[in-house]
Amino acid sequence: MSDVVPMLSFPAKPKPPKKPWTSSMHMGVHMFQDLSQESLEEYKAEFKEYEKAFIKWMNECNEVATLAARMLISRGFPDSGIVRIAGSARNQDLVKILRGCGPMQTSAESLWVAEEERWLRESVCRENENKSIRDKTALRDRAIKFLLERGKVYGIDFVAEDAPQKALDIVASEIIDKRSGQWNSFSGQNCEEPCSGWDGIARRCKCGNRRVSWTIEGTFESPSVYGEAY
Ligand SMILES: [Zn+2]
Repeated sequence: MSDVVPMLSFPAKPKPPKKPWTSSMHMGVHMFQDLSQESLEEYKAEFKEYEKAFIKWMNECNEVATLAARMLISRGFPDSGIVRIAGSARNQDLVKILRGCGPMQTSAESLWVAEEERWLRESVCRENENKSIRDKTALRDRAIKFLLERGKVYGIDFVAEDAPQKALDIVASEIIDKRSGQWNSFSGQNCEEPCSGWDGIARRCKCGNRRVSWTIEGTFESPSVYGEAY
């Protein structure tokens, strides 16, 4: 019975996951098919699992080598557990020698997605750019509609390019008309004496301490119109 030798073998090495997208070069630029933030995150998670599996596999290989060494020693070879390799200047641990009989890879493949991340960053920028162009176009179209409803004539009172500004001018002047003749607080109101504010018409606030004028910002749909000291 003592002649029965248990079978020992090294476990299969885990393989890194396959990227769930395809890449190609187009005029020197990387192009990625099916690459998205989600598929990248999924791949990174799979890669983490692979790295864990790799460490587990390394430990299992060491265990197999250890078992093999124990078995050899239990069968009387070599007595000391140390063996001298022919041609080697130093003694090596028997376990290391046996481990060396197995697959030699000692570190996991590395995760390499720098190009993908760059590509995604750039596509987010491209998307934002496109969106801002789309938003501008939509605002322009709404401004044209607004101006036509106000009886303005295309080509005479306004053109497409200045429609947003012309629409804002109309809305702002209505706000200014409404607020003129009453005391408005204004930005930068730090008069030395108590001051009721600015009437929206005069060049100075009530106490005369600050010069004030209207500042118009925003769009005709969400205008920001206020007095500001200068
Ligand atoms: Zn004042």
